[in-house]
Order: sequence, then structure tokens, then C-alpha cells
Amino acid sequence: MISDKMKKLVENNSVIREMFEEGRILKEKYGEENVFDFSLGNPSVDVPKEVNDAIYSILKEEEQNLVHGYMSNEGYKDVRESISNSLNKRFGTSFSYNNFIMTSGAASALNITLKSILNKDEEVIVFAPYFSEYKCYIENYDVKVVEISPNFENDFIPNIEELEKKINKATRAVIINTPNNPTGIVYSKDVICDISKVLSKKEKELGREIFLISDEPYRELVYDGKEVPFISKYYKNTIICYSYSKTLSIPGERIGYVLVPDEVDDSKNLIQAITIANRVSGIVNAPSLIQKVISKCVDIKCDVSSYDKNRRYLYDNLVRLGFECVKPEGAFYIFVKAPLGDDKEFCIRAKKYNLLFVPATSFGCKGYVRIAYCTKFETIKNSINSFSKLAKEYNLQEK
Ligand code: PLP
Repeated sequence: MISDKMKKLVENNSVIREMFEEGRILKEKYGEENVFDFSLGNPSVDVPKEVNDAIYSILKEEEQNLVHGYMSNEGYKDVRESISNSLNKRFGTSFSYNNFIMTSGAASALNITLKSILNKDEEVIVFAPYFSEYKCYIENYDVKVVEISPNFENDFIPNIEELEKKINKATRAVIINTPNNPTGIVYSKDVICDISKVLSKKEKELGREIFLISDEPYRELVYDGKEVPFISKYYKNTIICYSYSKTLSIPGERIGYVLVPDEVDDSKNLIQAITIANRVSGIVNAPSLIQKVISKCVDIKCDVSSYDKNRRYLYDNLVRLGFECVKPEGAFYIFVKAPLGDDKEFCIRAKKYNLLFVPATSFGCKGYVRIAYCTKFETIKNSINSFSKLAKEYNLQEK
């Protein structure tokens, strides 16, 4: 028999994955081009040429058993050096390779970070709506997830007053994700400063560290020149969990890092703990070949303008049809209000027109849906007719 913990996880199996499966079945029935699947955040933009070139050149030029071999659990030194140099140049920081642990994407980065800082019965705060997997990651360590309610009045910017109220002596960490999945919003410098002020004040009051974990798979995916503040500049006990999944369109390759700046309390021990957590989680080390590729591609990113084109077209058309949407500033999601307030019902009705998206109940935020626009532009263009029928069904006023 499976364990009680796994039983719970199986029962709550991801709605997003379920939608993806439904999409697959619909596509078999109606043909790929007639199904508008906006359920999954799987990058649609091509992998940059530099990534594939790097793979070929590494395989040609480097000694094979070194390319594919074990290395120290925190990852190759030269790879971490390239990343630290790149960040130092971009953000004026002064990291060294010692501050980085290479991981299998952000999912693994978050898991091994949480494993390294959490004790049973502590609490981790998340801002709703939030990436649904956080709940599984946190509860895995017998720790309570504390949600801050969605800020419906103010474009889903974190509610700072509620944050302050919910911090107590059990609070170990707060997770933020900007650019955000599922809302697409980017937290401004002011918002980050407000969060750090509250955390610093509470740290003093409670006499212990509260970590700010910044989950950053979408850091490079921003539009209209929007700036993403570099979080560790604003709060001392920041841990950054980064991923190349979306930046380089390589989610299946599983590569990212944890960054623990020197300023973090007890940083050396924490880095060692995260490194060991990487090993004992069974992942051992981030995949070798793709680590080496990252070293050659630290300053490369995918074609963000394609996502931007999708974003503009979809947003403009949804608004024109009468849907209420949060204007996305980053990532590749549009957050749309369910016209009658029932997000699950909205998704069911949308399916009649072969439109697939995810109810935000699964992100801790009833009444909205997430539309992932990381698809071909053609899919978005051809879907507008279906959105129009859906809008008519809800008697929305076209603008
Ligand atoms: N965090 C957020 C907010 C995400 O949206 C995702 C993936 O979609 C992840 C973490 C996991 O990313 P990775 O593929 O790097 O594990």
C-alpha cells in the first residue's frame, strides 16, 4: 500500500496536469489545430541556437567521461563562476561561485532549500494566488502553509498588512514569485521594500531569521521594459531559487540553481546543508551536460518578443470581447476573471469551444482562471472565435 502522505498527493493530483491530459484526448478527437490548449506553462519559443551549438561543441571538444561524470554535489565550479560573473555584471552584486548550488530546475531548488531550513510544525507563508506545487513542497516537511489572501482590489500585489499579521514565532519562510505565475504581474521595488521592512521588523521582534525565498523561473520574461528588482539587494535573508526552464525553453533538461548570498545568516552552513539535501534527495547533482551548456549560455535568453506578441494579441482581444483581465507584465500567463464568479464552471463551459485553461482555485484563488499563452501565435489567433462564442454565452458586452 502507498504511504498516507502519497495517498493525499495522489488524491490532489495537479489540476493542470489533468487539463493537459484532457487536451491530449480532445486533440486526438478534433485535430490539433482545432483545440486551443492554454493549460500548461510549457515554453513554445524555440531553444536559442546557442544552447544547441553549446551541446554539440561540448560533446566534440571535451573529454567524454568528464562531460558525463559525477562532480561535487553543488555542481561544476566553472559553471557557478560563469553564473556569478554574469549576475555581478548585470546587478552590481559581488557573488562568488561558493554562493551557488546547481539544481534540477526551480522545483528542486525550492525542495532542497525547504528541506534545509524547515522543522516540523513550522510555517511557510505564500501569497495567493500561488504556484500550486508550493503546497506539496512545503507540506512534505510536515510544515503548515499559511496563505495571504488574494489582493483582488489591487492587481494581486501582496497584501502587506495581512503578511505582518500572519507572521508569528513558527514562521520560517515567505515565498515570493515575481514575475508571477499565475497572474503575470511583476512586483515593483516599492512592494519588495515593503515586504523586506515587515520581515526585518518581525525578525527583530521574534529574535530569529525569516527567510525570503524568491522563486524566479520567469525573471527574464518581462515586457514593456519592466524592471524586476533583484531581491537579495533589498532583504538580507534572501534565498534565490532560479531556473533556466523558461529562460532557455529547456524545462525537460532540469537545470537551475539556489543562490545563498554571504549576507544570509549562517550562510556557509546553509549552503552546505542545501548541497547535502541535493544529494540525499536522490538527485545527487544537477545534470552534468546541461550544466556545462549553461556556462556557455549565461547571458542568452529565448525570444521574449514572441511571447510579447501573443500577450498583446490575446489581452487586447479578451478585453475587447468583454472579459476582465489582469494586464500581464511578465511570465506567459493571463489571469482572467470568471464572468459569474465560478472558475471551474467557466473552464467547463470553455471546453465546449475547445478552449482549455486552468481554474485558479488550484492556485488558492477562486473566481479566476489562468490562460497560458506560451503557444504558437496561430493557436491564439484561431482561438479568438471560440473566446467570442464563450463571451456571448455569458452575455458580455463587446467593446
Ligand atoms: N515555480 C514556478 C512559479 C513555476 O511556474 C514553475 C514551473 O512552471 C516552477 C517553479 C518549476 O520550474 P522548473 O521547471 O524549473 O522546476
